[in-house]
Amino acid sequence: MFTSKEIQERGYKYSKDPEPPKRCKYCGKDLYQKGVVMPMMDRVVAWISHERCTCKKATDYWERYDNKQQEIAERERLEEESRKKRERIEKLLGNSGIKKRFKNRTFENFEIDQGNKDAYKNSKLYAENFQRFKETGEGIYFSGGFGTGKTHLAVSIALDLINKGTPVICMTAIDLLAQIRKTYDKDRNVSEYQILQVYKEVDLLVIDDLGKEYCSDWAATMLYDIINDRYESCLPTIVTTNYDDENLVDRLARKSNYETAGAIVSRLHEMTMGITMNGEDRRKRI
Ligand SMILES: [Zn+2]
Repeated sequence: MFTSKEIQERGYKYSKDPEPPKRCKYCGKDLYQKGVVMPMMDRVVAWISHERCTCKKATDYWERYDNKQQEIAERERLEEESRKKRERIEKLLGNSGIKKRFKNRTFENFEIDQGNKDAYKNSKLYAENFQRFKETGEGIYFSGGFGTGKTHLAVSIALDLINKGTPVICMTAIDLLAQIRKTYDKDRNVSEYQILQVYKEVDLLVIDDLGKEYCSDWAATMLYDIINDRYESCLPTIVTTNYDDENLVDRLARKSNYETAGAIVSRLHEMTMGITMNGEDRRKRI
């Protein structure tokens, strides 16, 4: 690679004239366009950018410029990665893994009252600061009685992030397991491995209504596999459950697999902040 000045001095051939030199806006030095010279042929095959000035101010400018370009490239890479993940989820699970009946549960239509206003505020903060939580892999453990708004808030977070382009899967524990089970059908060309991978790699996994059904050994093992993998990859998981720890372990263990059930619950606590929603407060207020 030579500057147009060097090329002319050396008498290399070219079919198209180079652009005129530019002038460094800091020190006034002439900056020539660079050309790629084919060895042996002594001929310019392509004119590219102008040379960069090496004066202090120009060097600083180009350093900032290169950093900025790198940032843009990195952002584009991440966006591309997100897009691919979303496509994979869409292809394997459809609907971004979020069911129609969940789609109207947004922050906007959540009914705030004295008993749930902190839960609402913290959920909103979580969605707004998701990038930070994603870095630490911290999720949310929503617990509390039936009808207290846990699912609504968990889904609101999911929808908010989906709208921003974040790959999210939001499903009931039952549906999540059913999707894996479906892959065992002979005519399905999606493998268990593929489904497990999207659960394990998605930026945010929301598991709604954990413990609603008693778990088989198979189901508990699957859940542990997914949750533990996400814990090890430092990826956030949000769960909602109607049960306290003791009852949840009971339901996940189904009177036999207490070890796995206990491991699921303790892992979840390790990787989440707890939000307890107490429906009683609401009733008392009324
Ligand atoms: Zn200069």
